[in-house]
Amino acid sequence: MSRCLADRAIDHVVLERGEVAHTWRTERWDSLRLLTPNWQSRLPGFAYDGDNPDGYRTLPEVIDFIANYAKAIAAPVQTHTTVTSVGGSDGCYLVSTDRGDWRCRTVVLASGACNIASVPTFADRLPRSVVNVTAQEYRNPHNLPDGGVLVVGASSSGTQIAHEIHRSGRAVTLSVGEHIRAPRVYRGRDLEWWMDAAGVLDQRYDEIEDIARARRVPSLQLAGTPDRSTLDLNALTEIGVKIVGRFAGITESGSAQFAGSLRNMCALSDLKMGRLLDLIDAWARENGFDDVAEPPQRLPPTRVEGAPPLGMDLTAGEIKTIVWATGYRPDYSWLKVPVLDRKGLVRHDGGVVASPGMYLIGTQFLRRRKSSLIDGAADDARDLSDHLAAYLDGRLVRERA
Ligand SMILES: Cc1cc2nc3c(=O)[nH]c(=O)nc-3n(C[C@H](O)[C@H](O)[C@H](O)COP(=O)(O)OP(=O)(O)OC[C@H]3O[C@@H](n4cnc5c(N)ncnc54)[C@H](O)[C@@H]3O)c2cc1C
Repeated sequence: MSRCLADRAIDHVVLERGEVAHTWRTERWDSLRLLTPNWQSRLPGFAYDGDNPDGYRTLPEVIDFIANYAKAIAAPVQTHTTVTSVGGSDGCYLVSTDRGDWRCRTVVLASGACNIASVPTFADRLPRSVVNVTAQEYRNPHNLPDGGVLVVGASSSGTQIAHEIHRSGRAVTLSVGEHIRAPRVYRGRDLEWWMDAAGVLDQRYDEIEDIARARRVPSLQLAGTPDRSTLDLNALTEIGVKIVGRFAGITESGSAQFAGSLRNMCALSDLKMGRLLDLIDAWARENGFDDVAEPPQRLPPTRVEGAPPLGMDLTAGEIKTIVWATGYRPDYSWLKVPVLDRKGLVRHDGGVVASPGMYLIGTQFLRRRKSSLIDGAADDARDLSDHLAAYLDGRLVRERA
């Protein structure tokens, strides 16, 4: 957004509570690699020109990439400046920080979609003997106590963390709720390549029937490993990870209760993957890729054991740690402008917030399916900075009246 504002000669400042790339420096596990290939992290004025376009950046590489981009575009970032409140309305905002106040006609909320780990409230009832860690706090298996681990959540974070902890020699149980299975490589190309080429990632928010639902869909079950392998539930059960249903509650006596819907969850996930691959196959057929790409293929269905356990005594000592990989939510506790819905999310129309001069960027399906990816920022920032520029020079006054 800063680059797009600079392109339009709009004077601005970027307030950051930590260093540039703060969330990548402080809220990710050590071994994380992007699940999007190198070529796919395109930012305004930046396209990957290294020698490994299909590789996946390591965490230090992601930090360098974002920090170097900020330097290259000379973004006017004020680091170590925490926004403590944003108030005012209608084109006159007061932004208070721990290093002074700012007044401005426009504000872009770019504070991230993943500030707080979403943990079910019943986690309060866990026995004291079990250590609780969120995916945001988890760094590596060596920081966990010895003994069994229950990982809750089977999207990209949960499956990667379960895999890594299992490889450290611990017994791992993975609690599986809604998830979307996806092959890493399909017909000889990265799945992200197909989704990008076929226009899946460019699908717009105003073309989707149920956008509220689309904004809640979990991330694809993908991992960016050097061997480009698929990390799905079959791969995990094969190496010995135990799969159970959604973590639904904890009894008075300290037993975990797992939903009996595991088989259905997995069947649904297989179905959704099939639909995505059908769409890709149709696009490949229509666009002349059938002759150059490998033939269509389908993964075998997700294997689920006959009667997966519906409970687990958490006081028995078998489970020493629970890792909550149950998603994230944004933190707008500092936003004093009345634009939040009853779930605490910002009300907006494709990033144009319901308060004149206020914009939002970086949240799930903001304007396009790719909006929550690094690669989604460029198009969204271009659109929103156009809108912001028009607002500033008065071209939108009549539209709003
Ligand atoms: C575990 C995980 C893995 C991911 N993997 C990928 C991937 O492989 N590929 C991909 O494209 N995307 C991935 N993403 C999504 C990616 O994080 C987002 O696309 C990207 O971070 C969005 O950038 P952002 O600047 O909008 O938000 P953030 O990166 O969250 O940045 C928000 C910034 O705002 C600052 N901030 C927050 N509150 C305040 C405040 N009150 N005052 C001042 N500053 C504040 C934060 O310190 C932070 O630096 C992943 C996300 C997660 C959580």
